[in-house]
Amino acid sequence: MPAFCELIEKLSAERNLTDEELKALLEREGPDDALFEAADRRRREIYGDEVYIRGLIEFTNYCRNNCYYCGIRRDNRSAERYRLTPEQILFCCEEGYRLGFRTFVLQGGEDPYFTDERVCAIVSEIRARFPDCAITLSIGEKSRESYQAFFDAGANRYLLRHETASEQHYGKLHPAELSLANRKRCLFDLKEIGYQVGSGFMVGSPYQTTDCLIEDLRFLQQLQPDMIGIGPYITHRETPFASFPSGSVELTLRLLAILRLMFPYALLPATTALGTLHPQGRELGMKAGANVVMPNLSPTDVRKLYDLYDNKICTGEESAQCRGCLEQRVRSAGYRIVTAVGNARREQP
Ligand code: SAH
Repeated sequence: MPAFCELIEKLSAERNLTDEELKALLEREGPDDALFEAADRRRREIYGDEVYIRGLIEFTNYCRNNCYYCGIRRDNRSAERYRLTPEQILFCCEEGYRLGFRTFVLQGGEDPYFTDERVCAIVSEIRARFPDCAITLSIGEKSRESYQAFFDAGANRYLLRHETASEQHYGKLHPAELSLANRKRCLFDLKEIGYQVGSGFMVGSPYQTTDCLIEDLRFLQQLQPDMIGIGPYITHRETPFASFPSGSVELTLRLLAILRLMFPYALLPATTALGTLHPQGRELGMKAGANVVMPNLSPTDVRKLYDLYDNKICTGEESAQCRGCLEQRVRSAGYRIVTAVGNARREQP
């Protein structure tokens, strides 16, 4: 097995490693500085010091699904449910636009109240009012026809993490009615329709092994998404996984760096979950290769209710404060927030 620095060099040059080499890299003990430096170098080559911002609007926490890890799962009776009105959503966009956001991410549980018709009406309205912005949806698994309708209404990006690419592991994280096959079908449909697609997975979710992570990387190589969102799994007290430990910051950072070297052009967010487990988690994420942050634009009074996992940060501030705080953090890490739609760059042919 090649030494650590040889693995890094090979990964940088070839954007790939064998399964055995990935395993060695993922399971290695000891400092990762050389890996982070290689990832940061690659990121600066392609994206310079630019960090893109996405305004996150968490517009409903009703969900028909029952994922074992998620705090807003259907069976969590102690979750206080809310949904924003179209007017509230538009107000968040207006505020966001004023603060310099040019991408809005509408995320929510799979809420049957938001029929295709309602989603399309909201998307068309945002599209009409903010023609220079990207509209991202993150509302789970739908039929191809629904995805097409949202796209025709003006949505152009979609975030849907695959969560885990191992069939067996998928079955341990989800009830029987959910399948990896359908999740993948959704992702390929979204790509074919023409969306810019974001996928990704949780790091350290219950029953995850190194082999699962390697399968995640292999699946991403097949999908080639524009964005890859990863964050540590964080335990939520009111789920079947309440007694499992949270994932680790270290492994998340290591994976971010590996992703930057494997997918040099990908957009990689430094996630809220990473910031929740470590006070400088997002800064460390950027130094390991991340180049996107997603400040919260949801109305302050509902933020605590979008309770995916325990102790989620950024639930107290106003949008402007959230934006300001992240500006500071990005700067302290040595990068700079840019006001732009922030598409993924593409390789020159
Ligand atoms: N209903 C949408 C949005 C889900 S919430 C969908 O299905 O895509 C967005 C992401 O939060 C999920 O994809 C999942 O990866 C993450 N998440 C959920 N519960 C979590 C937990 N306990 N810890 C860390 N991340 C979690």
